[in-house]
Amino acid sequence: MNRGAIRVLLVEDDLAQADLIRALLDTASDDGDFRIDHTQRLSEAKQRALETDPQVVLLDLNLPDSYGLIGFQELHRVAPWLPVIILTNVKDENEAARAVRLGAQDYLIKREVETALLIRSIRYAIERQRAEEALRESEERYALAVAGANDGLWDWHVTKNVVYFSPRWKAILGFKSREFRDRLEDWFDRVHPEDLDELKSALNEHLIHGVAHFEHEHRVRNKAGQYLWVLCRGLAVRDESGTAYRIAGSLTDISARKRAEAQLRHDAMHDALTRLPNRTLYLDRLDIALRRYHRNKDKQFAVLFFDLDRFKNVNDSLGHSIGDELLLAAAKRLQQFLRPGDTLARLGGDEFAILLNDLEGLADAQQVAERIHELLAREFTIGGHEVYTSASIGIALSASHYQRPEEMLRDADLAMYQAKRSGDVAAEVFDSDMHQSAMAVLKLETDLRRAVERQEFVLHYQPIVSLATERIIGFEALLRWQHPERGLLHPEQFIGAAEETGLIVPICWLGLHEACLQLREWQYRFPTHPPLSVSINISGKLFLQARMAERVLAALTECGLSPECLHLEITESAMLDHREAALAELRALRQAGIELHVDDFGTGYSSLTYLQRFSYDSLKIDRSFVGNVLRTEETNAIVKAIIALGKMLGMNVIAEGVETREQLLWLREAQCPQGQGFWFSEPLDSAAVGSLLWKGARRVN
Ligand code: C2E
Ligand code: MG
Ligand code: MG
Repeated sequence: MNRGAIRVLLVEDDLAQADLIRALLDTASDDGDFRIDHTQRLSEAKQRALETDPQVVLLDLNLPDSYGLIGFQELHRVAPWLPVIILTNVKDENEAARAVRLGAQDYLIKREVETALLIRSIRYAIERQRAEEALRESEERYALAVAGANDGLWDWHVTKNVVYFSPRWKAILGFKSREFRDRLEDWFDRVHPEDLDELKSALNEHLIHGVAHFEHEHRVRNKAGQYLWVLCRGLAVRDESGTAYRIAGSLTDISARKRAEAQLRHDAMHDALTRLPNRTLYLDRLDIALRRYHRNKDKQFAVLFFDLDRFKNVNDSLGHSIGDELLLAAAKRLQQFLRPGDTLARLGGDEFAILLNDLEGLADAQQVAERIHELLAREFTIGGHEVYTSASIGIALSASHYQRPEEMLRDADLAMYQAKRSGDVAAEVFDSDMHQSAMAVLKLETDLRRAVERQEFVLHYQPIVSLATERIIGFEALLRWQHPERGLLHPEQFIGAAEETGLIVPICWLGLHEACLQLREWQYRFPTHPPLSVSINISGKLFLQARMAERVLAALTECGLSPECLHLEITESAMLDHREAALAELRALRQAGIELHVDDFGTGYSSLTYLQRFSYDSLKIDRSFVGNVLRTEETNAIVKAIIALGKMLGMNVIAEGVETREQLLWLREAQCPQGQGFWFSEPLDSAAVGSLLWKGARRVN
């Protein structure tokens, strides 16, 4: 079979005519081949149309079993996709027009037909049919898509100002087809007044200014009077000059999506547990208040910041769900008390902040803070438990120098810390001194970091003496910071910050190495029996380090020092929660021969429990007791008891802070074995200790 041949179904009862057509098409072989299938009757033609898959039909209207356009109509009904060219003897313009209207592709008069005309007609017929088919398919596809997407359609003939709304368009607005007039104004009347201008200008942008397509989201009132969110899209049809004369598009109900978006926005701005505004929303509102204040300073506003005291205890002892209930109950109590214009927010954990608007002055804010303090101090009953909490409140009042909301929140936070520190006060108002001291802390921390890097620390040494002979048996190493601007600093000026920042750990290690090296040198220059020892103060933080004991022993080996000469001082408070890991390190140190001393003994809360859990080598009686001996009977009794306790447990006792000869004599009398204090010597730098030892050695010799 010739693959390129066009398949023609020729329906012609006159055999001579049929031969003629065949001949015409045969001569056209330059334009491609034709394969002709011939039949004389319509009934047969209908069958062949279905079975042989012709591409075009040439149809005579005068057939034995049919006459006139009826024949065409019948065939067309059976195979509507088939292009049909009508061949007739009679020239009848009216009939020709009718035929085309009914779907015929062409209408040719037999006697006028010649090869070129016939071939062009066949080709056009096939082409047109194909195009129409494609168009219909695409229209169907579009109609299906629209139906599937559930969109409404609108079509506005701009120049004629005629608009069409599809039944689905009207149904989206809750109307039946006939209930809504096809008028543009009736649409616009239902658009939310706040959205209308924008909608119109979006339309204009597309129609007049040539923006690529029209797309707009707005609210529109439905039949029931509720607003829906819709997405309206459209595309203009333009004439040759580019002027839009028609625009058509779709309408989609996006209310569900908008609701979901609103929910997401709400969630992002609110705390999940209490449903209160969260930090983000709080800062937003604070920002608005601040801007308003900068425009008009008639009214003031304030930030109140607080957390719930003992909240952690409640969580730890009664469980998190009770903790959550407490937060909820507290939030509820506060909300009932606050005015509608105020904002209560949960910033995280047990931290809350309140924004008080429209205040006459500071006194208003203080009054509210006091009320809140009172409200929160009242008992809460939660899950059958009586729970108590309280709150110290920090207040920051609006002021011109505040530029950003975070600054006010920070100041209220600082004020809260001040309030907590001053004890059970309801509230503290931020003042610039607080900022100064906060800045000073910050500076101290930065300085400390630099000091560690540049090794700005030095050790001073205070002799520890035998009270019986007053001979030096060792030294306590005491840390000093040679600050480049502030001079020599004592531990109370920086140890707190060092602990808080964790810098105490590297500082301790530096000190340990330095003291061991120093001691080794003194032992070498001033040999004694037993050899001189050094006591080093160890922060509790060091025990939380992995393989701490191992590192200490390595340091000793490095300096060539025997373990008995190293004494580590640990305060009760530092080791209060003797964790298992810390105890293991202590044991390892002790096994290696290093002595462990309890520093500031008697000042902790649980001295005796502490001793029971681990055996130490020495107790250092805190200098607050030693300073008071001979002043009160009670102190004398306590010091004697500590000395007796040490003896019973087989521990050495060292009295700290011996300042007078009387104290020395009394302690000697009480049989306290060792002591240190200004009476013997203040802490000295290593050079001074060197000459002290040198003098001592000369005296002995
Ligand atoms: P501490 O271990 O109880 O040290 C004794 C403190 O008492 C020292 O103060 C010392 O100068 C002071 N002192 C000694 N004799 C007398 C006296 O007769 N009268 C009075 N009033 N005070 C006396 P310093 O050097 O200011 O150290 C204070 C605290 O800082 C130490 O108390 C210790 O807990 C801590 N510390 C010192 N050096 C270090 C260190 O290297 N590491 C660690 N973690 N803490 C250290
Ligand atoms: Mg000490
Ligand atoms: Mg001490």
